[in-house]
Amino acid sequence: MPAPPVPAGPYPHLLAPLVVAHLTLPNRVLMGSMHVGLEEEGGDFPKLSAYFAERARGGVGLIVTGGVAPNRAGQVKPFAATLNSSREARRHKHVTDAVHAEGGRICMQILHAGRYAYHPWNVAPTRLKSPISPFSPWGLTAGGVRSTINDFIQCARLARDAGYDGVEVMGSEGYLINQFIVRATNRRTDQWGGEYADRIRFPLEIVDGIRQALGPDFVIIYRLSMIDLVADGSSWLEVLDLAKRVEAAGASILNTGIGWHEARVPTIATSVPRGAFTWVTRRLREAGVVTIPIVASNRINTPEVAEHVLASGAADMVSLARPFLADPEFVRKAMENRAADINTCIACNQACLDHVFQNKRATCLVNPRAAFETELVYHKVSKALRVAVVGAGPAGLSAATVAAERGHTVTLFEADAHLGGQFDLARRIPGKAEFDETLRYFQRRIDATGVKVELGRRVTAADLIGLFDAVVVATGVTPRRISIPGHDHPKVRSYAEVLRGAPVGARVAIIGTGGIGHDVAEFLAHVPAPHDATELAVFLAEWGVDAGWGSAGGENEPRRGGLIASVTPKPDREIVMCQRSSAKGGSRLGKTTGWIHRAALKKRGVEVLSEVTYERVDDAGLHVRVAGESRVLAVDTVVICAGQVSRTELVAPLRAAGVLVHVIGGAEEAAELDAKRAIARGAQVAAGL
Ligand code: FAD
Ligand code: NAP
Ligand code: SF4
Repeated sequence: MPAPPVPAGPYPHLLAPLVVAHLTLPNRVLMGSMHVGLEEEGGDFPKLSAYFAERARGGVGLIVTGGVAPNRAGQVKPFAATLNSSREARRHKHVTDAVHAEGGRICMQILHAGRYAYHPWNVAPTRLKSPISPFSPWGLTAGGVRSTINDFIQCARLARDAGYDGVEVMGSEGYLINQFIVRATNRRTDQWGGEYADRIRFPLEIVDGIRQALGPDFVIIYRLSMIDLVADGSSWLEVLDLAKRVEAAGASILNTGIGWHEARVPTIATSVPRGAFTWVTRRLREAGVVTIPIVASNRINTPEVAEHVLASGAADMVSLARPFLADPEFVRKAMENRAADINTCIACNQACLDHVFQNKRATCLVNPRAAFETELVYHKVSKALRVAVVGAGPAGLSAATVAAERGHTVTLFEADAHLGGQFDLARRIPGKAEFDETLRYFQRRIDATGVKVELGRRVTAADLIGLFDAVVVATGVTPRRISIPGHDHPKVRSYAEVLRGAPVGARVAIIGTGGIGHDVAEFLAHVPAPHDATELAVFLAEWGVDAGWGSAGGENEPRRGGLIASVTPKPDREIVMCQRSSAKGGSRLGKTTGWIHRAALKKRGVEVLSEVTYERVDDAGLHVRVAGESRVLAVDTVVICAGQVSRTELVAPLRAAGVLVHVIGGAEEAAELDAKRAIARGAQVAAGL
């Protein structure tokens, strides 16, 4: 069959069709599996169906659902989604019908968590507890292994009955299948353990069994762990061998898994360079051991990066997961050559993965409608109001653009000469350059919706009274000052001053170990990449990832898991972070990213002092008591990162004048304020105007 023509435009490879099993996919974009928390809702999945339908309408080539367990033991946590009855399959039919009605295609991921499961009835090849679950697993008997394989096959059968176009067999990230493959977690001596060929029997029998049961007209994606990033993980030769055998067993697509969940290497956080692991997929593709499409994944968040991955031959398809929370129309906008209108995923994890770990519904910091499609609706208004929004931080930008999208006449006032508020500081932190994308997106929304922007305009209540039907106060926060003797000493700086370029000495004390304290420490401990090294090379070296993994010759070496000794550049500054509490420093940072910040600063020699009482600042430095004992921290600069206070001076006079006032973001409540809450509140208030 002749190859289909490559479409014109800036993304010819991304938007080229792809034939997979019995399907011709319209483009090379796969929406990667994400659990959002709607999978466990009752009834006929109305919210889950709306969520997927919106993404199908946005033009994605192939959707993969969040993980669904093939049996109770495989559930990620108690009551997590399973598919092992016809009754459940009938419920799933609503999801597949909704996607197909939009012209989309959808596969269901079958995920058995093995020893990662967060419940006491979890199972594993061998009774070895994982470092990330408090529950020891039960070792599977030989009969248990066989019935688990049968459950995978039955689950796939039910998925087909439910209308899915195929399944993804989750063979990576350290879940049950990975636990069988690697000797460190599989100490069995029967036919399912021992030599490598026996350890991979489990996934091969699953894939083969599904293919036998369901025939050729069914997509089987196998998610293969291409670099485990754990000691004693698979070797590269084993990865190649498994890829070949999985294809022979009947897989239609090979998706990529990078790192087990217990790995101590960041793989998707914002500090991970874009496309940081596509070289691994490229090496598999270049090895020429498989003929089925290979999918690259992790930190691909723009059409440009995706196009480059495909055009350079690193993969046949790209998997984007979180970018579809941020913007369900990612593909449509790329097709219409409107990439600048894409709401880019900034890889913060704050509203998606962190929510999953908190048992909350996942959504998106930059798109609060994600997974709330039926609840946060921006209806057009029949009568336009004159709306003033004061403050162009995340809260004000969100409120102004949603209100204008709905048809209101909106004026946005901002005291600074630029948009962004505190976000303008956040984007200066090394590893947070993605935050620029959010400001770019809001600027595009302002242009598209006709918000009138007045920059450099610090408004008073008198400027607004009588001119607007409603005022949204989004005046945000200012850094909290601390009141100890010497707080006005020249060596004392606020975080805002430091991030805007105020001089900082070689010995620094930071007061406060919250998100901003950690960010400021990273800013001050940053060592620029040497001119002869790429950002990626520095990242891989710092986290001990073997950049030679899979390269020519590398396959002959007995390296396992893709790990080597790490090399951290040392800053030429001594930094000590201080907090009053006795908790572990940074313990309130995000579940999925806090450990990265803590580990990165530790590698750079940043010290954390707890139980600190601040006494004074003078020429000698910062005088403190630490656990009751007096000390002088002989520093040149003291940076205050002690939280924020709300700016609310407009609220009382506006209300006194009878103006309809809504207060949002930091102006409403400064404690534990972040951009997630600011953007969501802005959207919610504007949706109700
Ligand atoms: P602000 O961002 O404070 O914006 C308020 C705006 O109102 C300002 O631009 C101000 O100039 C303007 N204004 C005030 N008064 C007036 C007036 N009278 N007239 C006109 N304009 C006025 N959050 C996260 O979620 N994730 C992160 O990773 C993260 N990292 C951060 C890193 C740093 C270094 C910093 C400083 C913050 C970070 N934050 C992060 C916090 C986040 O930026 C704030 O929570 C968010 O910006 C608050 O939004 P806001 O719109 O309520 O207020
Ligand atoms: P924060 O997280 O509340 O931390 C404030 C710090 O200041 C704490 O360490 C607190 O610790 C200390 N502190 C509070 N009052 C003090 C006082 N009077 N004197 C001395 N120390 C005091 O606030 P933040 O660091 O300013 O961050 C603001 C918000 O931005 C956070 O809510 C966070 O969600 C968001 N943010 C998020 C990220 C991210 O990566 N997700 C990054 C940056 C910011 P002790 O009380 O123990 O001393
Ligand atoms: Fe991306 Fe952050 Fe949204 Fe998650 S919450 S999808 S990481 S922007």
